[in-house]
Amino acid sequence: MSVDLPASLHPATLSAQAGGIVDDATAGVAPAIHPATTFQRGPDYVPSVDGNVYSRSHAPNGRMVEQLLAKLEGAAGALVFPSGMAATAAVFRTLPSGSTVLVQNQIYWGTTGWIRAFCDRRGVTLVEVDASDKDAFAAACAAHRPAIAWVETPSNPWLRITDLRAAADAVHAVGGLLVADMTTATPVLTRAIDFGADLVMHSATKGLNGHSDVLAGALACADADTPIWAAIHADRDTAGAVLGPFEAWLLLRGMRTLPLRVERMSRNAQELALFLSDHPKVETVLYPGLDDHPGHALAEAQMQGGFGPLLSFVVKGGGEAALAAAARMRLFHRATSLGGVESLVEHRYTIEPHTGIPEGLLRLSVGIEDAGDLREDLAQALGQ
Ligand code: PLP
Repeated sequence: MSVDLPASLHPATLSAQAGGIVDDATAGVAPAIHPATTFQRGPDYVPSVDGNVYSRSHAPNGRMVEQLLAKLEGAAGALVFPSGMAATAAVFRTLPSGSTVLVQNQIYWGTTGWIRAFCDRRGVTLVEVDASDKDAFAAACAAHRPAIAWVETPSNPWLRITDLRAAADAVHAVGGLLVADMTTATPVLTRAIDFGADLVMHSATKGLNGHSDVLAGALACADADTPIWAAIHADRDTAGAVLGPFEAWLLLRGMRTLPLRVERMSRNAQELALFLSDHPKVETVLYPGLDDHPGHALAEAQMQGGFGPLLSFVVKGGGEAALAAAARMRLFHRATSLGGVESLVEHRYTIEPHTGIPEGLLRLSVGIEDAGDLREDLAQALGQ
């Protein structure tokens, strides 16, 4: 029968044992899928199972993921959503018109684009800042007194590192909250709440699930007894951005190997970053695990056990040379997204040409394949 494993256990133990979940009806060591949308009440009209009424608010499979994620994050609570963007939207929808938000610049372009449009139509003042510049971030907080500051570390696709503790201190000093998109790091590498973040956001589509077969998002909170968490929870229950039971089940299944995958992806990415940084056809490598990365020391202090699967590099010769190299890759799928078991390559300029991204930049999401095979694939694709 299920046991509530203590959050003090190591991530590998919590994940492998799905936080302690066993199927109560059969004693199966994998949980069942619960597709019911409505739940019975007894003759006294009290719900027969405490807390189960209607699946927009009460989703057993979603709750299993939330319990495990909260433990992995050291969080007071977690909520899952049908995509990362739905989780992001749930945070921003709590803001009253007339408020101000501070958002890190050059983060995942989908987040930036959605926030800009939302703030514009909602009458929310948006200030964008380079959050990896600690002083610029603190000055922007002091000048604009944002209700929320939004950061992403490591950032996608620039791999910038934000000092979470300094960011939290700066926004807390003016009465605001820090929200951190930790999609790339996952709680295995960084538990943002330990560094002062109030809310953590994940595109669970990425590393948390890790198999490129579930679209999902998640939020975790440092304190569940706050107006913002109550508003987010109420918004999900009433507006209905709910993850389906099969997706939640698959996500939990994926999360059972999360620490193992993150460790392997990070090791592979580190090896490829070193290989690329020595390569004559490569201009620059952006990877926080490299000594010469401007955020390396900070990443070492803030990330535990590796630097994640995401790596960008600029090919000499610009856009044409980068696209030709991507075209020659055999193991790296030419596809967007990150954090899956299979390696991916993306030419970001094709996707976001107006964001200042170099034309020669290729973004890799390094999977769990054999590092030597991946290195050879890059070598032949770059022409050496
Ligand atoms: N945050 C980051 C860092 C991402 O890379 C993505 C997607 O690429 C998102 C958020 C959005 O998540 P989703 O695609 O699950 O809506």
